[in-house]
Amino acid sequence: MRSFHPETGLICGVYIALIVAVGWQGWPSRLPTPKNSGRPISVQSAQMAAHAAAISEPASVSDLEPTPELTFGLESTPALSTGTGKPSSRPVTTSAAQLLQNQRIAELRKPTPVTAHILMYHYVRVVDPKLDPEGYRLSVTASQLDNDLTALQAAGYSFITMADLAAGRGSPKKIAVTFDDGYADAYTTAYPILVKHRATATFFIISGKVGQPAYMSWDEIRTLHRRGFEIGAHTLHHPDLSRLTTAAQQKEIEGSKLAIEAQIGAPLVSFCYPAGRFNADTLHLVQEDGFLTATTTEPGAAHAGSDPYLLPRVRVSPTVTPTELVREVRS
Ligand SMILES: [Zn+2]
Repeated sequence: MRSFHPETGLICGVYIALIVAVGWQGWPSRLPTPKNSGRPISVQSAQMAAHAAAISEPASVSDLEPTPELTFGLESTPALSTGTGKPSSRPVTTSAAQLLQNQRIAELRKPTPVTAHILMYHYVRVVDPKLDPEGYRLSVTASQLDNDLTALQAAGYSFITMADLAAGRGSPKKIAVTFDDGYADAYTTAYPILVKHRATATFFIISGKVGQPAYMSWDEIRTLHRRGFEIGAHTLHHPDLSRLTTAAQQKEIEGSKLAIEAQIGAPLVSFCYPAGRFNADTLHLVQEDGFLTATTTEPGAAHAGSDPYLLPRVRVSPTVTPTELVREVRS
């Protein structure tokens, strides 16, 4: 798997490993050297850190070729010297060592810098929550979308597509607006609002639904593409991919990609898991099919160290005010 910025990821990974190895929380002078303490605390920490990193960022870590900086902690204690050369005046108890390890793991789990916030919208329409609670949950009104974009722009944010993000054009002040499923109101309602704000966006299309009632037509999707909006794939029929065989998943993923590419005459690079559901096969297939990113429904921001095939998003629900949305992407 690849990271957004492999070089940055590598540098950050090495840097973090170095920080962890020498001790982030207490700085070197407060750490015992293995030589003086006789306890391989730093080695344990490095092992724990490596384990924690593997848990928190498996793709990024797997990208990192073993380097002396990354492996020395596991191979040689002298390399883990505190740098002071002085004996520690304070013995480290087991509980203190554990605390130190926990602190280091917590540091490792801190995300790398934000590269963009990916907003997740579905319908842009008015829905009565009493009549259709599920539909309401997936909808924002036109004025809400309008106000969201106004508030974000006033707060200094600008908009990119998922392809832009994959190309490294993200930054903490960039927002990738996404619309799932290819509903008709994406064209009739969202599109004019986006144009008004000169904002771009990515539309994830369920290719097998195109042209059906409540969904966009191919003509409309082609227009969006011509106007510079990104079209992404969202499978043929919106199944729960995690419950399908590999072959069935391949049909859904590749099938939608080929169908949409044939209609818009351009390659697709962005995928969205239906309902955020996927398994290990899905991850392989999406990459093999040439997608550069895949979005989930997990909450959060995209970071420099994020796996591009496990990108979290900010779900914009009908009850979130523009002010709250700005606050959320600032956090
Ligand atoms: Zn969907």
